[in-house]
Amino acid sequence: MPSHAIGVLGAGYVGLTTAACLARLGHSVTCVDIDESKVARLRRGEVPIAEPGLAELVSGPRYTTDHRELASAEFVFVCVPTPMGEGGQADLSGFDSAVDALRPVLRPGTVLVVKSTVPIGTADRLARAWPDHPVVSNPEFLREGHAVGDFLHPGRVVIGSDDGAAARRTAALYAGLGAPVVRTGPASAELAKYASNAYLALRLSYVNVLSELCEQAGADVGAVTRVMGLDARIGPACLDPGPGWGGSCLPKDTAELARSAAELGVDPALLRAAVAVNERQPGRVADKVREVVGAGGLDGVRLGLLGLTFKAGTSDLRDSPALAVARRLAAEGAVLTGYDPAVPAASPQVAPVQAVDDPSLVAKGAAAIVVLTEWPEFTALDWAQLAGLAEGDAVIDTRRLLDPVKLRSCGLTCLPLGGR
Ligand code: NAD
Repeated sequence: MPSHAIGVLGAGYVGLTTAACLARLGHSVTCVDIDESKVARLRRGEVPIAEPGLAELVSGPRYTTDHRELASAEFVFVCVPTPMGEGGQADLSGFDSAVDALRPVLRPGTVLVVKSTVPIGTADRLARAWPDHPVVSNPEFLREGHAVGDFLHPGRVVIGSDDGAAARRTAALYAGLGAPVVRTGPASAELAKYASNAYLALRLSYVNVLSELCEQAGADVGAVTRVMGLDARIGPACLDPGPGWGGSCLPKDTAELARSAAELGVDPALLRAAVAVNERQPGRVADKVREVVGAGGLDGVRLGLLGLTFKAGTSDLRDSPALAVARRLAAEGAVLTGYDPAVPAASPQVAPVQAVDDPSLVAKGAAAIVVLTEWPEFTALDWAQLAGLAEGDAVIDTRRLLDPVKLRSCGLTCLPLGGR
């Protein structure tokens, strides 16, 4: 496969993975980030994020804070943040200034490849502002915790552009992956990214409503979703209830899709309902804790939390539903100790939770233990030992991870979200 000179803007989950994997595919990659300490660490071969397989690839690209090193790039992949702004719309100020910084540097003809998740119409707007540069929308679908595997074995590569030659050249960069390539216009590519994330959010909110219904009806949401998942039209993925969906993408992307739908005169009621269900979910978990702990309320009550990240397999705490639950409980006066395999002890990032590096410290004196992230290692904890340290016997399992029979044999009462 021919090697190309590629620039990558941003060295976060998407940018660093893109840079490292494109280098692995044989391209000559320069990755620019404005975060000097991150660039210094990357130059020393340190990986700032916990992603399986990334350490082996991180020496592939060059890392710099100097945009001028992109002068000879044939393609620049833009992978900078597009966070949620006021009112739910994507805040593009950082994205726009990142792209503007390339203006004095890039030679005419360099393809601008937009990997950041950006609102419908952004690629068209860029194409108008950069008449000498082809623009390609190439949304990224990788999952945190599986970033390298997902990049190297994608379900699809989406290439959205009105410039046929640039689209073909960009698609060819991925040729080594053997993945299906979907060629679209720019708006379809941008919308496909939002449509996928918002669909996952809808599905998860639906399952959380089902789990509430199961509890009221004396049914078992695990049985219900097993039946649903065996229907080939539905499939088994993303049918697990939990404390809510979060992370750095689903909330902001669902909010932005609802906003753009409303702006385009399309009723966003379905999306808004999914968001409303999700906003209620931490409160539902807090209700369960209160039911278990008793009528005295939570003031001064010690609770142990297992899992703080937004999902297992990542150290990312952004918009973590586990922390949303923690804040609810703390607001009622609960004293929270938390253990997460990806969060260091005493981490200030998880306040009001006191993070510890030993699960037995979570159990010590706890009126209840609440499982908030689906780390598989929690199933292998010494539950008999934890039972001996805890004050109460309840384990509220919002991820339905644990075996209630096993916990019962250790003297604990497991309360899975969604009944059993
Ligand atoms: P991130 O916060 O992990 O990383 C962004 C990086 O960009 C940081 O290192 C930051 O220092 C750098 N940066 C910020 N401004 C810059 C600038 N002007 N020039 C150069 N570097 C700059 O972000 P992320 O999670 O990789 O997300 C990036 C984009 O990809 C977002 O639009 C996001 O929605 C999208 N996305 C994220 C994921 C995911 O799982 N994280 C998946 C698919 C798509």
